[in-house]
Amino acid sequence: MLFLRAPMNKAIFLDKDGTLIENIPYNVNCNAIKLVPGVVSGLRKLQSHGYRFIIITNQSGLAKGYFTVQELEKVRQHLEGLFNKQDIKLDGFYYCPHYSKGIIEEYSVECNCRKPKPGLLLKAAIDLSIDVSRSWFIGDSFSDVEAGNACGCKTILLRNKRSQQNSSKPYSIAVDFPQATQHILNSDQA
Ligand SMILES: [Mg+2]
Ligand SMILES: [Zn+2]
Repeated sequence: MLFLRAPMNKAIFLDKDGTLIENIPYNVNCNAIKLVPGVVSGLRKLQSHGYRFIIITNQSGLAKGYFTVQELEKVRQHLEGLFNKQDIKLDGFYYCPHYSKGIIEEYSVECNCRKPKPGLLLKAAIDLSIDVSRSWFIGDSFSDVEAGNACGCKTILLRNKRSQQNSSKPYSIAVDFPQATQHILNSDQA
């Protein structure tokens, strides 16, 4: 029997808060969600170069009882709508609901998906046939870098004041999303 191998996709894994949208801790009010300037043009360029987009986000507010899965689902739909309006397709939205010291029992556990652990990335890669060696993680925190490195993709740290240094080394550092985009396209051409 002839067995056709599924084509492997390349993807940009994207942190949500402080990367795609302005960071408002635990916000699920869609009216307050604002895309960071430069994100749309960057995503468009990357999409035209064949990248899929997958959001990878820690949502400990679920374990802490700050909001519900239904409210987070509204945020996902809102974001997808914002991107669709710009002809940008969002292929996945993966979140970690856990926090070991939370109050909602089912989510108050140690898990393998809360960044810096790579569980969400690995699950997304399997679900969506992603070739991680051709993929990238863009995030504004060292836990994004650590998760991306652990799953075998290249990482870009968006430098901001909140970035708490650890021993993880990003593939490159960018001042903003357009610069991160440029680093990826330059690396592809090299
Ligand atoms: Mg962030
Ligand atoms: Zn988790």
